[in-house]
Amino acid sequence: MAARAIDGKAVAAAVRERVRVDVAAYVEESGRTPTLATVIVGEDPASEVYVNMKHKACEEAGMGSVHHGLPAASGQEELLELVRALGADDEVDGILVQLPVPAHIDSDAIVAAIDPGKDVDGLTPHNAGLLAHGTPDLVPCTPAGVMELLAHEGVELEGAEAVVVGRSKLVGVPVARLLLSANATVTVCHSRTRDLDATCARADVLVAAVGVPRLLGAAAVKPGAVVIDVGVNRLEEGLVGDVDYEAAREVASAITPVPGGVGPMTIAMLLVNTLRAARRRV
Ligand code: NAP
Repeated sequence: MAARAIDGKAVAAAVRERVRVDVAAYVEESGRTPTLATVIVGEDPASEVYVNMKHKACEEAGMGSVHHGLPAASGQEELLELVRALGADDEVDGILVQLPVPAHIDSDAIVAAIDPGKDVDGLTPHNAGLLAHGTPDLVPCTPAGVMELLAHEGVELEGAEAVVVGRSKLVGVPVARLLLSANATVTVCHSRTRDLDATCARADVLVAAVGVPRLLGAAAVKPGAVVIDVGVNRLEEGLVGDVDYEAAREVASAITPVPGGVGPMTIAMLLVNTLRAARRRV
């Protein structure tokens, strides 16, 4: 029997509605509007699309948002100054520097300069450290979205074998840490992993965050597994994930499609983080 498709659009819509209600209550209580500041350096069309979606989502949730676009030739110091100024700005609750930044800028140094209390992407060393420490505060949005989908699906994580493919700071490592905090037994695979399929096939919960189209097929999926495909790969035929959806759905019990699975969760969790950051400031 084909696996159930996990409807990320519906789960994200429910999260966004919950945030909208909570924002209205926050505005009523505090008299201030949670506000997200976004920064783009240069003119990457994909970054523009993502950031526009984030502003629209803020508006729909009753939040404010401001955008700062810097020219591609801007220097490291200029960007650092902006990030520090946003950190000191009482009107701003969340700061999001859209990555990637141009190659002449040290993105790690920029991220590290973000006020940890306004780090709604959860990528500063401070917030990554809290997550590693088992006391998470602001958690990266896509990993938080993965956990929300698993919770929504009622997936039992305690004692489950979870395999995460990918070890990036943005997705793989934080997902692995969150799964560990949920008491799963976690294995993290990467480009040097020897027998990827065999390792993945142990998983009750398989999370793919690689960036290689359809890397994982039926042989990587344990019968009845829950498969979360974070991958977004643009091919001529359209967007595809890191999992071969058609092959994997014949073996799995539930699987996220691409698009329409994890993708919509990222923006929803950004709104959750922005409200969380705002709440702490009053
Ligand atoms: P990344 O920084 O490029 O990391 C990719 C990871 O995959 C690395 O750890 C790499 O291993 C591993 N890898 C590469 N090739 C492999 C292979 N053949 N076998 C096993 N592991 C391999 O990417 P990312 O930022 O984590 O993103 C991963 C995917 O998620 C991308 O498709 C991205 O577009 C997507 N994404 C989606 C969302 C969303 O909202 N849905 C958000 C963020 C990212 P090494 O460490 O050994 O190099």
